Amino acid sequence: MPAVKISIIGAGSAAFSLRLVGDLCRTKNLEGSLISLMDIDGNRLNAIYNLATKYVNELGGNVKFEKTTNLEESIKDSDFVINTALVGGHKWMEENRKAGEKHGYYRGIDTQEFNMVSDYNTFTNYYQLKFFLDVAKLIEKIAPNAWLLQTANPVFEGTTLIARETGIKVAGFCHGHHGVFQVIEALGIDPKDVDWQVAGFNHAIWLNRFMYKDENAYPLLEKWIEENSSSWKPTDPFDDQLSPAAIDMYRFYGMLPVGDTVRNGSWKYHYNLETKKKWFGEPWGGADSELGWAWYNERLKIITSIIADIASDPNLKILSRETYEKLFEKYNLPKEMLSEASNIIDPEKMSGEQHIPFINAIVNDEKQRLVLNIMNRGEIIKEIPENVVVEVPVTVDKSGIHPEKIDPPLSKRVVKFYLYPRMVRMEMALEAFLTGDRKILEEVLVRDPRTKSFEQVEAVIDEIFSLSFNEEMKKHYNQ
Ligand code: NAD
Repeated sequence: MPAVKISIIGAGSAAFSLRLVGDLCRTKNLEGSLISLMDIDGNRLNAIYNLATKYVNELGGNVKFEKTTNLEESIKDSDFVINTALVGGHKWMEENRKAGEKHGYYRGIDTQEFNMVSDYNTFTNYYQLKFFLDVAKLIEKIAPNAWLLQTANPVFEGTTLIARETGIKVAGFCHGHHGVFQVIEALGIDPKDVDWQVAGFNHAIWLNRFMYKDENAYPLLEKWIEENSSSWKPTDPFDDQLSPAAIDMYRFYGMLPVGDTVRNGSWKYHYNLETKKKWFGEPWGGADSELGWAWYNERLKIITSIIADIASDPNLKILSRETYEKLFEKYNLPKEMLSEASNIIDPEKMSGEQHIPFINAIVNDEKQRLVLNIMNRGEIIKEIPENVVVEVPVTVDKSGIHPEKIDPPLSKRVVKFYLYPRMVRMEMALEAFLTGDRKILEEVLVRDPRTKSFEQVEAVIDEIFSLSFNEEMKKHYNQ
């Protein structure tokens, strides 16, 4: 069996790393592979190292680990590099957001039309983009044959930047298209009988093809809307695939937005908490409201504590339901969430992340249909330039990534009113990063409907630059 070296950068993101380790254990064709866990945070690194080792022992897989805080050491000899690091963590993002709110930018200056995902920095993303390029250039230098699986956000900006600025093999990874399966489940139809495609940009994908038993399945969605939409309620802040916002976007654009796309609509859905509640449901008003994001941060903290408990207590087995029952009680979590743990507990079940299936397809020629972010070469989406990364269904095998023909094409409104403006934001973010020209950041805010004066623009940028951790970013912008 061909064994490979997989480097996970930012491996301290424990829940994500565990999913990859579990998937690798369940992929017999990659037996004997080495995972290099890399993180700058030694404590997090030790915790994930112990936990991953424990997991493999319980699952009975044949996976080896190394851990390091040295980027170069991890990338050296790697066949695949997965970048999931978040420079500065959620703390920096919250600080930037707070500075933005102080000057009248509700949910922060990164919160823009078609870019409402709160953990998705585009304009205060200097460190993230710089790190993406550092990693990519290091791969180019010391492991030029390795694939980079770009997972940290912003995936759209980051993958486009790397593909333009380096010659390495890169693809952006996200699981947002799973929203399609939520729709299929809600309609009560068998996924085996559904032929679907999504296309667009990361966090900006649309259900262009939706066929059930060779017939258009959109009428089934219409029926669901008629019968169920008015009584729809979210189960958590991220449950928005069939929210009023999604249905409203579908009505306007002529195709259903899928996954995080629903969070990335226009200001119509986001002016304030009240508006958000109307479109994304009570009580949270979606993931990107102050309430939804607080819920998310709280969950992240609990998950981190659960992981720390399991890592430190030899009596707590990762593969035992009892462990989760006990810990869910300890942290007062709803029982329904236990189903989320079932992927970890079920020794046969893959996590749904696309990374290990991708690696298996490349290494062992086991063909896989995935949805990946790749350069639009060959005009996969014909209205989009070829040097912009698009998120599309592909087949992956030993010879690489083969995009499907997008058929039927995206609606005119999706392309012109949604993808074009989103693409301009990406170009502005990259241009600002590459040139260090503060005027671009200003221009972005001048075009923001929350801006009432140019003084407000200058004040908010100065405030963000004045935060102590932003000193390097400030210098980059010649301030
Ligand atoms: P997190 O802060 O919990 O974890 C990130 C890890 O990166 C931390 O352990 C941190 O120590 C480490 N790190 C920071 N700087 C580093 C550096 N210079 N070198 C190595 N490691 C470093 O964050 P998270 O919530 O796990 O999110 C991580 C990223 O993944 C974010 O950008 C998030 O938006 C993204 N994300 C992507 C997807 C997807 O499907 N593509 C899904 C969820 C989250």
